[in-house]
Amino acid sequence: MATVAQKSYTLPALPYGYDALQPYISEELLRIHHTKHHQAYVNGANTILDKLEKARRESTDLDMKAIAKELSFNLGGHELHSIFWQNMAPAGRGGGGQPVGKFADAVRKDYLSFDRFKKEFTQVAVSTEGSGWAAVCYCSDTQKLGVMQIEKHNVNFPPRFPVLMVLDVWEHAYYLDYKNDRAKFVEAFWNIVNWGKVNQWFEAHM
Ligand code: MN
Repeated sequence: MATVAQKSYTLPALPYGYDALQPYISEELLRIHHTKHHQAYVNGANTILDKLEKARRESTDLDMKAIAKELSFNLGGHELHSIFWQNMAPAGRGGGGQPVGKFADAVRKDYLSFDRFKKEFTQVAVSTEGSGWAAVCYCSDTQKLGVMQIEKHNVNFPPRFPVLMVLDVWEHAYYLDYKNDRAKFVEAFWNIVNWGKVNQWFEAHM
């Protein structure tokens, strides 16, 4: 019997080498983060889809509350990491500096200055309880930017808002390089933000 090709989630390649974000993120950390942590969320999401298909074929029941929760967590992890890799670039080669384009105009309009934007984003990132993310979103109703604080990969996040930029503040994102000093990692992040990419996503949604 011919097998039908099933679509599944795959780990995206990084748009730069594992050593490209040094000294702000070490080669070892980035490699583990991408090939172990991100891969685990890809595998987790695919495992759940397989379980669902199998249960439907065999007409068995699953704990749908647990399945829905697990799928949201793993899919959130996969999607947020996929954005995160893209919104970074090697320092001085696309990474760091100041916001550009229409996104820079929006930052000035909503936050009055880049420094104020950085301050609010930093406070959101540093104060995330446990594991989570800081995420810059755009609301088309109010035409304003906003910084959301995502717990885990999927909690406290409103649906539909396009995400323009994220920072992973799970311990696995910085502990190897910064130990418990999350604030130092958040400060380092500004050297490797890919503002061109952030602006490209903003222009696609505004
Ligand atoms: Mn992570």
